[in-house]
Amino acid sequence: MPDNLTVLGVWAHPDDESYGPAGTFRKLADEGVRTAVLVATRGQLGGIADPSIATPASLPEVREAELRDAAAILGIGDVAVLNYQDGQLMDTDVLELRGEVVRVIRAIKPDVVVTFGPAGVYGHPDHVQIRRVVTEAFTAAGNADNYPEHMEQGLAPYSPSKLYYLAVPEHVAGRISESGIIADHDSDITTTVDVRPYVETKLRAIRAHRSQTDFPRELEENSAELLSMEYFKRVLPQPETGEQMEHDLLTGLR
Ligand SMILES: [Zn+2]
Repeated sequence: MPDNLTVLGVWAHPDDESYGPAGTFRKLADEGVRTAVLVATRGQLGGIADPSIATPASLPEVREAELRDAAAILGIGDVAVLNYQDGQLMDTDVLELRGEVVRVIRAIKPDVVVTFGPAGVYGHPDHVQIRRVVTEAFTAAGNADNYPEHMEQGLAPYSPSKLYYLAVPEHVAGRISESGIIADHDSDITTTVDVRPYVETKLRAIRAHRSQTDFPRELEENSAELLSMEYFKRVLPQPETGEQMEHDLLTGLR
């Protein structure tokens, strides 16, 4: 396979990468694929599980450190964090935020980009906004007319090959009662990745976010059932009618 395949995940908060496709990212890393994560905020609005871990003042720094710990557990080599405020991505300058995502795409040159789906898993406005901005950035990054200042900074236009949205199928969403998860239609899922060997690793990555309190009990108690498969919707290139289910984000690229 080409030796420089790269997969980039773009999320809103530290811990999205661990609740999201953590098993897939660890599996890709184990296969020699370069993986990277971009997070738009430091999760400043998160609760604090234990006052000895963080104060409101130290929380941004603590959550970034937890993100880096989780990334190390998942074999994610590149971690980029933007300076946006947790909970305010809907109110931020969209062109500027998109430019930041374009800049990271041009710098990291991922073959595949992964982000939230339109529902943002449970409708979190930051997640919904990241999905929108990443979808626009995916296409914008390839055109030198967009954010020309990047070229002056030594970057070049770059077009990733594939864009995926994280998906939660109905049978999984239905098992996590308190989270308000908005399920994707099973027929929209194009890609399933078997991550059974990585369930414990995924739980360790989630637990690396030590300052956070909201770990759904059902995930821990039914981890083998709920975390052993990860689901995606390929957005670009668009799926063809009757296309077979993929089992790898790099299908067709390696
Ligand atoms: Zn989040």
